[in-house]
Amino acid sequence: MNHGLLFILSGPSGSGKSTITHAVLDSMPGLVFSVSHTTRTPRPGEKDGVDYHFIDRAAFLALRDRQPGGFLEWAEVHGQLYGTSVAEVQGKLRQGLDILLDIDVQGARQVLARHPEAISIFICPPSAQALAERLQRRATESPESMALRLNNARQELEHAADYRYLIVNAELESAITAFKSIIIAERLQQRRAADGTPLSQSW
Ligand code: 5GP
Repeated sequence: MNHGLLFILSGPSGSGKSTITHAVLDSMPGLVFSVSHTTRTPRPGEKDGVDYHFIDRAAFLALRDRQPGGFLEWAEVHGQLYGTSVAEVQGKLRQGLDILLDIDVQGARQVLARHPEAISIFICPPSAQALAERLQRRATESPESMALRLNNARQELEHAADYRYLIVNAELESAITAFKSIIIAERLQQRRAADGTPLSQSW
């Protein structure tokens, strides 16, 4: 059976990850977003079940501690809990859909341990200054949260080299094109050909 591909996308907040993700999802049929669970509160415009499943800490911990575990991976990021539910991913992969996980470096490590075939992509801003400016422009964070995010960004960047692909988001359109190219190239790999029939037999 043809099984979907698992794409892991990481990068510090303010790297342009969500903008790039939305653009890519809108233009790549067959690629779906994995909606994570989180204990953080929704930002203006965010919808429950679309951007995240927003749940409280008790519900998150209950899902985490369920047997078998309810999460494929989970992590504490910026003081909040985030996790990818097993149900979210497995059903879609079995349908042959490709899935995009937008998760932090701790989560990426856990997913790669269980799914070494997953395709990991790191998006980084062109400079620390660009990152600070983007976070300021977004203006959704308190000064404390922003300081925490900047500090975490520095730590996250140290893990960029562990990823299969690196996209430097200096210019949005180029970053989107780079991301789409990765998806197209991965889909075209011969060992993942749609029905496994060697080309020589179909000609
Ligand atoms: P934000 O609060 O800005 O939406 O996300 C903060 C960070 O949490 C981002 O780096 C994002 O990639 C990460 N994140 C979102 N969902 C998950 C998840 O399910 N698991 C993990 N490990 N990280 C996540």
